[in-house]
Amino acid sequence: MNFLPGKRLIKAFISFVSAVVILIINLLNPVPKPFVPEPEIVEPYTGPTVTIAQNGQSEYKIIRGQNCSPSEKYAAEVLQDYLRKISGVTIPIFTDAEPSAEKEIVVGRTNREGVAGYTVDRASLGDEGLTVKTVGKRVVIAGGEKRGTLYGVFAFLEEALGCRWFTPTLIHVPQASQMKIPAELNFTQKPYFEYRDTNWTNAYDKLYSIANRLNGNTFRSLSEEQGGDVGFIGGFCHTFTTSIMHPSKYFDEHPEYYTLGAVTGVRSPDQLCLTNPDTLRIVIEEVRELLESGNSDGKIVSLTHHDNMNYCVCENCKAVDDYEGSHSGTMIHFVNAVADALKDEYPNVAFETFAYTYTQKPPAHTVPRPNVIVRLCSISCCFVHPIDDPFCVEDVTNNIAFYKDLRAWKKICNRLYIWDYTTNFEHYVGPCNNFGVLQRNVQIFNENNVKGVFEEGNSTGHESNAEFADLRCYLISRLLWNPYLDYDKTMNEFLKAYYGTGWQYVREYINMTMKHSGKFGFHASCMRRMTFPGVFILSPKQVAYCNDLWAKAAELAENETHLRRVRMSELSWRYWKACNKRSEFSRLRPKEEWRAENEALYNDYQKYGIKICSAFAPYFSANPDFYSTPDKWR
Ligand SMILES: [Zn+2]
Ligand SMILES: [Zn+2]
Repeated sequence: MNFLPGKRLIKAFISFVSAVVILIINLLNPVPKPFVPEPEIVEPYTGPTVTIAQNGQSEYKIIRGQNCSPSEKYAAEVLQDYLRKISGVTIPIFTDAEPSAEKEIVVGRTNREGVAGYTVDRASLGDEGLTVKTVGKRVVIAGGEKRGTLYGVFAFLEEALGCRWFTPTLIHVPQASQMKIPAELNFTQKPYFEYRDTNWTNAYDKLYSIANRLNGNTFRSLSEEQGGDVGFIGGFCHTFTTSIMHPSKYFDEHPEYYTLGAVTGVRSPDQLCLTNPDTLRIVIEEVRELLESGNSDGKIVSLTHHDNMNYCVCENCKAVDDYEGSHSGTMIHFVNAVADALKDEYPNVAFETFAYTYTQKPPAHTVPRPNVIVRLCSISCCFVHPIDDPFCVEDVTNNIAFYKDLRAWKKICNRLYIWDYTTNFEHYVGPCNNFGVLQRNVQIFNENNVKGVFEEGNSTGHESNAEFADLRCYLISRLLWNPYLDYDKTMNEFLKAYYGTGWQYVREYINMTMKHSGKFGFHASCMRRMTFPGVFILSPKQVAYCNDLWAKAAELAENETHLRRVRMSELSWRYWKACNKRSEFSRLRPKEEWRAENEALYNDYQKYGIKICSAFAPYFSANPDFYSTPDKWR
């Protein structure tokens, strides 16, 4: 008998299967035509204008109220500073004691209101809303005295003069010796969310935050002059058994204050027993102490469970959770009790808890008190499909269940916040293809009565900006202020300023990531492995197409800064290829060649200061094995 040797048969079979798979991928993913950037058409404003300064001179004055708020005083100074940067002219600031004149830029509440042909509806604008308009030759920038007027100055600089705060160091300020603005400005902006925050690291910068209207207090604190902030007193999250009821104080003597854990099966110090009356008494005491310790006015106290599944299954907790059909039952009962106990002493304080993992589903019967904030966390979601995608469900992610819970919380909670996820925490340096859902998800939050949003990102972006950290931070900040902004225009403006002439090639790469992620029934959580098909399904020709896009973007870079940014952003693409052994990392190439590509990738991480690769095993190894894929270099 003349049998093929077993090994050869297996090899032949594998080759056949590979050929079929590649054929199918090619059939399903048509080969892209070479990318040709569209001509950039910039339509200049051609309507009537008002000249604010020309040839180094201005007839204008900046007017602020004599007794204006600290942030309105600062707003006038910011305006003066940027107008000087644009035109070279320092326009003087006067108070409204100065006689009224036509050529004024009026900032904030002044005695011009009601007598100079305009009024400002502050009741409707609230603390943060703004209005910008021209009244004859007069320019009016006004809004809430807390920070609305200050936001108004930035909105004026954006809309009328084209300034942008793309990153803390990339601030676009057009130069114009003739500084003109449209003669008929008239717009009003109000926030969609009362609380807007992200921990992408650019957002730690104060000016960036003010300009892009982030107002949380966890990652920056803003003085009264800078408009102040909203947010937390004490811990920000996972406070139970960390900043509140630390086990070192009570666990040895009173293990019954802590969870009879669903996971551990014994009393353990990593969650609380929420039906023990002494637990409640102590938490109220500790929170009262916290509120007495500093300025608590308008603040939020985080009463949030730990990051594990070890909820309490003691008889009392189980009875409540069974009755409520969710572990959020004991949580809402408990947080309501704390909120009730402190509401008379602290009527301006809110008590926040999570609807996270085992508490995601709302209770069937109990309703959060008006002074309770529920922060629903999207940890279970897929981030290549929008949250309201009716088909997005698999073993790890479940947008259908999350969206159902969102709508259920909306019915019972008047201050619903969201904790959303916008990076791949397992692979900070790999592609996270959520550019196609960022806007829609924020719109969904707004349309479901959400009042505050925190977008968690890569909080080590300064040490791992290998995957569009700057772009993502900018888009998120802008979307939290206006979920309905022109997303393409916003992204393209950023890309053009950031990458220079080759920006459209980077944009096309982003379009490819949007088109080819989460296809054919695959999904992507915020912790998915790099080799998972939900990240990308690309044929060899499409991989080559993306390679060409990056090469062209680099070729067109006009200076070192643009080139560096292109190379840094390309690292995420190289990481994906290296993890998946594609293109130059293919194992069909001689061993030493793909090993050298791995080493070159690692060296570029060093060159560009990329040290952190993941939220879980943070630092790249000092001695990686270049015969293994980069997800093993930890
Ligand atoms: Zn219990
Ligand atoms: Zn999905």
